[in-house]
This record gives sequence, structure tokens and C-alpha cells, in this order.
Amino acid sequence: MTKLIDPFARPISYLRVSVTDRCDFRCTYCMAEHMQFLPKKDLLTLEELDRLCSSFIRLGVEKLRITGGEPLVRRDIMTFFRTIARHLDTGALKELTLTTNGSQLAKFADELAAIGIRRVNVSLDTLDAAKFQAITRWGRLPQVLEGLRAAKEAGLRVKINTVALKGFNEEELFPLLDWCAGEGHDLTFIEVMPMGEMGEEMRLDQYWPLKDLRARLADRFTLTDLAERSGGPARYVRIEETGQKVGFITPLTHNFCESCNRVRVTCTGELFMCLGQEDNADLRAPLRAASADALLEQAIRAAISRKPKGHDFDYSRQSVKGQMSRHMSHTGG
Ligand code: SAM
Repeated sequence: MTKLIDPFARPISYLRVSVTDRCDFRCTYCMAEHMQFLPKKDLLTLEELDRLCSSFIRLGVEKLRITGGEPLVRRDIMTFFRTIARHLDTGALKELTLTTNGSQLAKFADELAAIGIRRVNVSLDTLDAAKFQAITRWGRLPQVLEGLRAAKEAGLRVKINTVALKGFNEEELFPLLDWCAGEGHDLTFIEVMPMGEMGEEMRLDQYWPLKDLRARLADRFTLTDLAERSGGPARYVRIEETGQKVGFITPLTHNFCESCNRVRVTCTGELFMCLGQEDNADLRAPLRAASADALLEQAIRAAISRKPKGHDFDYSRQSVKGQMSRHMSHTGG
């Protein structure tokens, strides 16, 4: 089977799949408080998700990241995880992982670890319970901390993803860093993107460029740039004084396209070949047209042959489409 290679000779080895548009939080920079979610028939079923991911794995994907919405609130999602984990056993899949808000980890961490998941990304913007509630609207910090404790006990490696928000978690830069060091979690900062439903003024107020955040770290510590890249938008530094590794995700910069190995699929089966471009391919139609995967594979190959060289992010096109996770969902490593 010929593996997926795009027109610029980049092998496609990383797939990110959103399994739901629903979430139990309503982070202000991500979702409106009263979201209209998609009708169930539009979502890929768990079986369709399995066929889709398995096809990509046959075609060379070695790393699969499950995201949402909140992936762990999708009904029966553990059935999907249990089944797709067979590709870890055969060695075809090198890593199965997920990005979560942590609210359901207390329930699922043990089982996730048992089926072969080694690492999870957990989004957490503040360690202050009142601020946590304000930014997530519906979230409760103790529940997430409990989830994190369960993940650690289950032996899952945790990377905390923190959206950098001016005037919100600026003062928590060093406390967050210390807390992660104490817990043994990695930490990555994400530059906020113009999504969600907040007023334009608030949006501008909240923009905290990661170069400023980094400069603040550099005032206190010696930072060494690490060559390590994941083919995605994250860059890493080591803090020499503590040995801690800190990541920076600047989704709007173009500094990683040449090594881009990734594509993503929304919960309705749209394949996006580039995180900054609108071009996409419908994989749900070929999935539903036949029970064999030939049409699906053909559609995937045709789409990959259109993967652009780089992303030309245009703020005006991206502005407020309602929900980060439905439309883009590519941050968070
Ligand atoms: N519910 C899961 C979670 O909380 O990690 C997965 C989906 S969530 C959309 C994935 C990541 O996107 C989270 O780390 C979240 O903070 C980040 N995110 C959402 N909206 C964003 C925005 N406007 N700018 C930057 N990152 C954003």
C-alpha cells in the first residue's frame, strides 16, 4: 500500500480527529455560551470514525490525536478508544493520544492507560478556582485537578496547555510553571486566536503575544531553544535552572509548514489539509456510500494531493465562526 505523501514530499503521519462538537465547558475564547450543536446524523458514528482512522493508519498515519469539543463527553467514546487501540498492538500506530479539558479524566484515566495511551494533553488556563469558572463558564477547577491526579496515578504523562490571556493569567506565569514542575507535567502556552464569541474589544485586550511571555521567562531564567519539532506549530525551550521544558504554540505563524506532517478531520468528516486554509474534502460521503474503504481511500488520496505548501492565515476569514473545535481545533499540540 503506497503511503500518503503530499505534493511537497511530506509524508502524512499525524492525524487529528474531532469526535464531537459538544463540550461540558464554554471557554469564552472558544464557544458561545448557548451553542447550537450539530444534529446527530451529521456526526460520524463511532464505527465510521474507526473506519476513517483505520484507513489513515493503513495509509501511513502513525500518530493519532483525538479531540473535540470535549472528546470524553462523547457517548461510548471508550468503545472507540478500545477498538482503535488494536493498531497500537500491531505496531502500525505508534501513538494514540487525546486533548481534553480533564473534566472526565477521574472516570477514564485508568482505562485510557490500560489500552495503551501514554500521554494526554490537558487544557488548563488558571489555577485559581474563581478565574477558572469565569473563563470556562461551566467548568469547576477541583474536578479537573481530580482528573489530573487520576491521570498521574494511572501513569499517564500530562502536558498542560495554557492559552495565554493578557490580564487574565499573566500573573500566573511563574506559579503555573512551578506547579507543573512540582506535578511533573510539561507545559505549553498557546497564543490566543480570534475565535469564540467575545466582543472584539475584549479579544484585543486578551491578546498576549507569546514573544512577550517568552521575554518574561527570559528575564528570570536562561532559556535554550530546543531543536525538537513535532511537525506542528509548537516550539520548545529548556529552562536551564530547572531543566523544565516549555512549549509555545503560535498557530498563526508560518514557521512550521515545511515540516508539516499533519491533517485533521472534523466530527462531521471534513478533512482539512492545512490548518490555515479553508480547502477541505468531505470524507463522510465516501464513508457512507460503501461499506468497503476503497472510495474513502481514494478521497483521502485526492485530498492529500491538494495539500498546500503553507498556510496563509487570514484573520478576516477566520473570525468568529462560532466554535474553535468545529472549525479549526488544531492547537494544543
Ligand atoms: N476540549 C478539549 C480541550 O479542552 O483541550 C479539546 C478541544 S479544545 C478546542 C483544544 C484546545 O484549543 C484547548 O487547549 C483550547 O484551550 C484551545 N483553544 C480553544 N479556543 C482557542 C483560541 N481561540 N485560541 C487559542 N487556543 C484555543
